[in-house]
Amino acid sequence: MKCVRCRAKPETYLRAHNAAFCRPCYLEHFRRQVERAIRRERMLAPTDRVLVAISGGKDSLALWDVLVHLGYATTGLYLAQGIGEYSARSRTLVESFAAARSLPLTVVDLAQEEGGLDIPTVAGLTRRSPCAACGTLKRHHFDRAARAGGYDVLATGHNLDDEAARLFGNVLHWQRDHLARQRPVLEASAAGFVRKVKPLYLLSEYETATYAFMRGIEYVVEECPNSTGATQLLYKNLLNRLEAESPGTKGTFLREFLRSGQPAFAAVDERAAGTCERCDQPSFGRVCSYCALVNEVERKRPGRHVGEAS
Ligand code: SF4
Ligand code: ZN
Repeated sequence: MKCVRCRAKPETYLRAHNAAFCRPCYLEHFRRQVERAIRRERMLAPTDRVLVAISGGKDSLALWDVLVHLGYATTGLYLAQGIGEYSARSRTLVESFAAARSLPLTVVDLAQEEGGLDIPTVAGLTRRSPCAACGTLKRHHFDRAARAGGYDVLATGHNLDDEAARLFGNVLHWQRDHLARQRPVLEASAAGFVRKVKPLYLLSEYETATYAFMRGIEYVVEECPNSTGATQLLYKNLLNRLEAESPGTKGTFLREFLRSGQPAFAAVDERAAGTCERCDQPSFGRVCSYCALVNEVERKRPGRHVGEAS
């Protein structure tokens, strides 16, 4: 087998595309795929100021690397979640990635927010799953940081595996409102949700891992400890089994949904966002889900007396 582009000895083989690549050609191929997705979906304008959500994993760091390579003005946004050794390690890696390339990085430390909102504290007090708490906090801080810094768009490193697993879960539970909004581009809303894009949405986890490896990007390899047993992982495993039997399944599942299913759900989505009366951020209810979570944490913090006003 030879590299499909230059006939040199290949270093990687993509089953879904039945194509092998040498290192320089693979890097070029990967960047082109990202560039094409950005152009096709009109994700970014050349002058956009882009805030990139960085977790320290391979996807977000690979995305940041490609966007810089393509010439976009980017700033990284890292949310310190307070998840023990995992957070400590990912923060170190993100900070050294940014420092080595002289890239601007904003860090939001959840333990410093509202008297302490790190994931273990919030999950423990509210008896929510860590991932449910984490999702609410992430969404809020992504919007807040993007608005505060006057960014045009927030980019996240969600890959094909993430998006296909999310779609699988949304379909299993027929989450119509989620299906209506599962797109690689979410436009800004009048209420203040910032524009969000996912330039890696058609690239698989394997492809981003290969890119990160070939670029010598040091990323946090271990998964977040809270992901063990998460349903998202179960869906990924199931889809991987389908993909092994029939290469290309994940890509077809997602692309066909976006082409024919998603517009039908979007057409009947009637939810309109307003503004949260507590924090002024966009919200689908009187109070946004972040503020509902913070209120609950406040009520349940040790030292509060039952009946004390909130
Ligand atoms: Fe957050 Fe759960 Fe992901 Fe960990 S696994 S980063 S807690 S959503
Ligand atoms: Zn709010």
